[in-house]
Amino acid sequence: MGRVALVTGGSRGIGAAISKALAAEGYQVAATYAGNDEKAAAFTAETGIKTYKWDVADYDACTAGIAQVEADLGPVEVLVNNAGITRDAPFHKMTPQQWNEVMNTNLSGVFNMTHPCWPGMRERKFGRIITISSINGQKGQFAQANYAAAKAGDIGFTKALAQEGARAGITVNVIAPGYINTEMMATIPEKVMNDVILPQIPVGRLGEPEEMARAVVFLASDEAGFITGSTISANGGQYMS
Ligand code: NDP
Repeated sequence: MGRVALVTGGSRGIGAAISKALAAEGYQVAATYAGNDEKAAAFTAETGIKTYKWDVADYDACTAGIAQVEADLGPVEVLVNNAGITRDAPFHKMTPQQWNEVMNTNLSGVFNMTHPCWPGMRERKFGRIITISSINGQKGQFAQANYAAAKAGDIGFTKALAQEGARAGITVNVIAPGYINTEMMATIPEKVMNDVILPQIPVGRLGEPEEMARAVVFLASDEAGFITGSTISANGGQYMS
């Protein structure tokens, strides 16, 4: 049996591509989601990948959910922290609720998921933690003070934890995507896409979810054991760091 990989927000968007790519490589994949039962059921029907529902912002729910996945499939060896939300507003209009929801999901959610997986990874002397941050955590973005802070926090978290995991065979890395061709992008008017967004991207196109998934598959592999604390900027050259 292949290693067990848990992908948060793994039922749609970038996470679905990651779940599928890991399953194709022979991993036993558990994909989590927050509440969209219909999408999750359709995903399982299409792929055969089991889905689990809990809120990554809830520490106790994460602990219980991970225990259930481990009872079903075995110890989690690869954790992909992909679940994320946006609650955009210019700062003078941003509410504490918008701030807290994004911090609780995009930053505390990464702690809530990683912390219960960590002791087992240390004991088994193997682990892969891969977190999907964002280009906007690297460069900032108008109306995303909450999102940029949380996604930058994911990078700091990763660099600290990489140092703690190194001797225990655990690597901890980030992928920071730029504009990716997901449902969200389909809602952007063609003129904005052609006149505003695409000119910012040197390769001249959006990234594909499958391209993010290939980077995850590589970081999860045994061959990537010397790469830790890194941020892979997957953004078509839009921001080079
Ligand atoms: P989607 O909005 O398409 O999917 C988000 C997934 O996360 C869904 O499965 C959703 O579940 C799940 N989710 C959301 N909140 C929670 C929660 N509190 N607990 C558990 N699961 C949750 O996201 P994308 O594919 O667009 O983005 C994936 C990641 O990539 C995010 O972290 C995002 O910030 C990052 N990113 C995306 C970019 C893009 O261009 N799309 C660019 C840069 C970074 P449900 O289906 O039930 O709602």
